[in-house]
Amino acid sequence: MPGNGVDSIIKLLCLALLEPGDELAMAWPSFISWRQGAGVMGATLRTAPLAADGSYDLDALLELVGPATKMVVVVSPNNPTGAAVGAAALERFIDALPDHVLPVLDEAYFEYLPAGSHDGVALMRSGRRLAVTRTFSKAFGLAGLRVGYMVAPPELVRMLGAVRNAFDVNAVAQAAAVASLSQSDELLPPRMAEIASERHMVSSGLRALGLEPMPSTANFVLVPVGSADRAEALNQALLRRGIIVRPAGPFGAPDAIRITIGLAQENAEMLVAMAGALGEVGALPGAR
Ligand SMILES: *Cc1c(COP(=O)(O)O)cnc(C)c1O
Repeated sequence: MPGNGVDSIIKLLCLALLEPGDELAMAWPSFISWRQGAGVMGATLRTAPLAADGSYDLDALLELVGPATKMVVVVSPNNPTGAAVGAAALERFIDALPDHVLPVLDEAYFEYLPAGSHDGVALMRSGRRLAVTRTFSKAFGLAGLRVGYMVAPPELVRMLGAVRNAFDVNAVAQAAAVASLSQSDELLPPRMAEIASERHMVSSGLRALGLEPMPSTANFVLVPVGSADRAEALNQALLRRGIIVRPAGPFGAPDAIRITIGLAQENAEMLVAMAGALGEVGALPGAR
């Protein structure tokens, strides 16, 4: 089922499935729209902590599941941390869920995953019941056109069809999505390889400045900087130098900033700006 971005599919899933008294379980820090979707419906949000690498701790998440749980969301790679759950662990997790719970796998960053990682659509083909969301906003760079999709069992697609707007994804976005899919074999491998090598460059550059970026398979790294005040001060100091990063407070990580991997030249400029910003804001507590 296509949607006006995965963001709108998240809202539709919550609208179709949740009512007050129901629970949505996910990990936190993670993607804000799931939290908002549960809140809008008056459902209860249950959150598990992340694993040390920033991926979903599936054992901790499973412990939250009870009779009132309607939906359990796994964002992998997680946003804002960038780490993914293991394929085998994810399979075991889905198989361990009781029948009254819908597992939703948010694979917004699916295309960035290395070979051998999880593949929600393949899991569905293997007969497992789950919903998978993917988007053209990230690897394909079409965020401004607003187009994503859900792959799910027919009865769930019908339920969302009953609550969605009759006119949803615009014609330009549909054309761009179809063109992207038809060219993905040529477009994506070099793009993903470049992101991976630039992410490596950015991470080692940040480590050389005394920071500790978290491991990521996506097109960003999350950098804990000690405190919320320091995150905001660094954000401001970087803005003054023409660099926009994302303070991660809304994602549940107020002491961190998320840095998008850009082109080589942009990444080099970011590292120079970061050195200046750190000099301005002061050394980090606990920096090595
Ligand atoms: C970006 C993102 C979305 C929303 O994607 P759109 O298709 O742009 O609405 C959903 N989930 C995660 C984890 C994301 O990072």
